[in-house]
Amino acid sequence: MFMPASFPKKYKIFISLFPLLCVMFTARCFGQQSATASPNRFKFKTVIIDAGHGGKDPGSHGTYSKEKNVSLSIAKKLRDAINDEMSGIKVVMTRSTDVFIELHKRTDIANDNHGNLFISIHCNSSPQRKGSSRGTLLLVYGFHRSQEQREALRENASIFIEKDYKEKYNGYGDDAAVNTIVLNAFQQKYRKQSIQFGDLVDNQFRKTNGRHSLGVKEQGVLVLAQSGMPAVLVETGFINNPSDEAYLNSTSGQNEIVRSILTALKQYRNNLEGN
Ligand SMILES: [Zn+2]
Repeated sequence: MFMPASFPKKYKIFISLFPLLCVMFTARCFGQQSATASPNRFKFKTVIIDAGHGGKDPGSHGTYSKEKNVSLSIAKKLRDAINDEMSGIKVVMTRSTDVFIELHKRTDIANDNHGNLFISIHCNSSPQRKGSSRGTLLLVYGFHRSQEQREALRENASIFIEKDYKEKYNGYGDDAAVNTIVLNAFQQKYRKQSIQFGDLVDNQFRKTNGRHSLGVKEQGVLVLAQSGMPAVLVETGFINNPSDEAYLNSTSGQNEIVRSILTALKQYRNNLEGN
């Protein structure tokens, strides 16, 4: 490989190691889905459940119910279901009571707990007081705010990266150029995994529950943007649609929603862990 003599030494080392780094990053970042058992095999450990809105922020509302209460009720049921059926998974709630939590605090909680997946529970609403729009929608982070996400990734992922990184590369983790390559790889990986999980939930909503679905869409949602991990916002239904509102407030409707998310989560974990 051609290298001008005037290149600083550390860049020469970096350039000469570049092919090796690429291979190792690919293995590190994308090898999580490999079925090969190894001591470094990815373990899915922590789910962050974020009940949308709360306290002074009621979110949207229907004829008789508020989004903040529906989202909290579903979030708590989801927490309990994961605790009952998925041993070894830690659940962290961004709120478990009717309190107002700022968006950046929600993502701080997610990042501080090193979540492997961020699930935000919400209800959709159309502009009319009573609307005919209905069904589910899964939102994943869209790339037009990629700088924000990159900053969150740096906060959250860098400690994991740098730990192995310094062992493997003798301190090259301090090199900004190398960090950028790692961050790009993580950003792509998290986007892909967010869409994978969104698709799995969408599939359950449609096929198992027979819900009308608006699909999986990418949008610049702030609470997703700042989470340095795969993140999906679940719009569980239109609260201002009378039949969706009845479903969202019923025990059976909430249980169906929870069951679908739980099934998708089990599938997602198995895919990631290569089972
Ligand atoms: Zn909402």
